[in-house]
Amino acid sequence: MIVMKFGGTSVEDASSIQRVSEIIRERLAYRPVVVVSAMGKTTRKLLQAAEASAAGDGRTTLGIVADLKTRHLSEARRLLQNSTRAESGSETFELIDRYFDELKKLLEGLAILGDVPPRGLDKILSYGELLSSTVLAGALSSSGIPAKLVDSRSFIKTDDRYGSARPLFDVTYATTRGALLPVLETGAVPVAQGYIGSTRDGATTTLGFEGSDYTAAIIGAALCAADIQIWKDVSGLMTADPAVCPAARTVESCSYAEAAELTCFGAKVLHPNAVFPAAERKIPVHIYNSKRPGDTGTSITSAGGQSGRPVKSIAYKKPVTLIKISAGCDEASGGPFREEEMLRSLTRALRRRHIAPLITAATGSGVVFVTDSAQLAGEAGKYFIDELSRLGALSIEDRQAIISLVGDRLPTSRNLASLVFNCVGDAGIGMIHYGSSPITMNFLVADTDAEKVVIRLHELLFDKEVS
Ligand code: ADP
Ligand code: MG
Repeated sequence: MIVMKFGGTSVEDASSIQRVSEIIRERLAYRPVVVVSAMGKTTRKLLQAAEASAAGDGRTTLGIVADLKTRHLSEARRLLQNSTRAESGSETFELIDRYFDELKKLLEGLAILGDVPPRGLDKILSYGELLSSTVLAGALSSSGIPAKLVDSRSFIKTDDRYGSARPLFDVTYATTRGALLPVLETGAVPVAQGYIGSTRDGATTTLGFEGSDYTAAIIGAALCAADIQIWKDVSGLMTADPAVCPAARTVESCSYAEAAELTCFGAKVLHPNAVFPAAERKIPVHIYNSKRPGDTGTSITSAGGQSGRPVKSIAYKKPVTLIKISAGCDEASGGPFREEEMLRSLTRALRRRHIAPLITAATGSGVVFVTDSAQLAGEAGKYFIDELSRLGALSIEDRQAIISLVGDRLPTSRNLASLVFNCVGDAGIGMIHYGSSPITMNFLVADTDAEKVVIRLHELLFDKEVS
C-alpha cells in the first residue's frame, strides 16, 4: 500500500479536488491511504474566528463561519451534483452541517470565556481537516471510487502539548494498523485528516504548522507503506523556494538527511519531523505536484542521489535571533568560567520554555545560539531572556535570517566558504556555522537581505560551474 497526502492548495476548490480524485483513481492498484489538509486558507480563517470571538467581536466571527460554510457547501455541491449515489451525497451534506453547528457552539464558548485556550483552539482548528476530508471522501464516492472517511483522532495518539502535540509512537503505530488495515481489506480507500490527533483521554490535538505531512509519514511507517507521496503545488523539493527564486528547479533525488536539514532550516516543502518516521523504516518519500501530476518530482531515500554539484538546495528562515551569553567569573566560586555549567543551565532553560534552537555552540568564553524569533515573543519570551541574563552578559541580535546550504558533497567542496563570502558581499555575514551534520553550512545575514542573498547564491551555485 501507499500513503498519498494532499496539501491545502491541492484541495482548495472543486476542480482541484476533481484532479485529486483522478490522481487517486490512477493509483488504486497500489491500495492508497489518503491524508488530506484543510482546504486552502481554512486554518487561518478558523484561527481568526477564534480570536474574534474571544475578543467579543461576534459579527466578524459569524461572518467568517458563514463564508467557510458557503465555500465548503458550494464546492461539495459542484463535486456531488452528478452523483448517482444519492445516499453518500446526503451523508456528506449532513456531516458538513453538523460540523458547522459544533463549530459555532465552540466559538460561542470562547466568547463567554474571553480567551482562546490552546486546548479549545486545537478543537476549533480540527474542523478544517474534518471538513476537507468529508468533502473529498464524498467526491471520491460520487465518482465511483470506494472511499471510507476515517477519523485520525481515533488512531493518532499524542501527548497534551496543544498546538504542537507529539505523537506517542508505540500506541499510535498499533492503533493506526487497527484502524486502517480493516478498511483496506474491504477494498475501500481510507480518507483521513492530516494535522490532528487526540490525547489518551480523547481531547483533540494538532501536530503543529503543516503537520499533515507528519501524519502521512506516521501512517506510512505504521503500515510499512511502499511509498509516502506528498502532493503539493510545487513539482517537488526545489533548489530554493520558487516563490523567492524563480530560477529554482526540482531536485530529483536527495537523502533523508538532506531533506531533514533543509526542512529544519526553512524549506517549507515538508514538515521538519515528517522525514524521521519514514527514514527509520526506510520508506521512500516522494514529493509531487497535484497540478502537474506528470512532472518527475523529488524522491527522498537513504541513498539520496548525486546532482553533480556541492549544494543540493538553499533554505532560509527568518526572522531569527542570535543570542550570545558571555561569562565573566563564576560568582559563587570566584573561579573562571565553566562552560559545561553554562551549557547545562541553558539547556534546562530552553527545555522549560519548549524552545528548540536552530544552532547552539559553545565558544571559549560563553555560549551562542540562534532561534526562531517567534519563540522569544511575548511575556514568556521576556521571562526567558531574564532567566538567561542570570547566566552571563547577554548580547542579542534580532532581525536576522539564517541561510543554509545543504548537500552531501558539501564536505568535499574546498572553496565553498570563500565563494559564499564573495557572493554575499556587501550584505555582510553575521555568523557562519557548519552544522552538526557535515552536509550543512549555515550563516546569518540581516533579515531584509535574505531573499537577495538566496537569489545571488542560487545563480552562483546552480547556474554557474561550481565544484
Ligand atoms: P501545501 O499546503 O499544498 O502542502 P505549502 O503551500 O504549504 O503546500 O508549501 C509549498 C510551498 O513551499 C511552495 O509553494 C513553495 O513556495 C514553498 N517552498 C519553500 N522552499 C521550497 C523548496 N525548497 N522547494 C519547494 N517549495 C518550497
Ligand atoms: Mg500548506
